[in-house]
Amino acid sequence: MNTQMMLRTEQRECTHRPARPATPRSQTCESCGSQFNLRVCTDCGFVGCCESQSGHNREHAFGSGHPVIKSLPLRNGSFTWCYECNRYV
Ligand SMILES: [Zn+2]
Ligand SMILES: [Zn+2]
Ligand SMILES: [Zn+2]
Repeated sequence: MNTQMMLRTEQRECTHRPARPATPRSQTCESCGSQFNLRVCTDCGFVGCCESQSGHNREHAFGSGHPVIKSLPLRNGSFTWCYECNRYV
């Protein structure tokens, strides 16, 4: 993992977003079974809970090198967050 990249705060175009986000492969957090405030990995479809719970999505993002996540359920109000850019994208 490149720490220089992680610390960079300037706003640049996020290059991590996949052209076609993966579909969620679970209805619950794959690590703890939580059913709310879930996030999906746009690279592989991993479903994990948010930071206010056990942070399994964040754990996946850093453990796998898949930095871009979307909030579930997927709908118009869903947000996309990039852990690498550390902002909404
Ligand atoms: Zn990014
Ligand atoms: Zn979890
Ligand atoms: Zn992933």
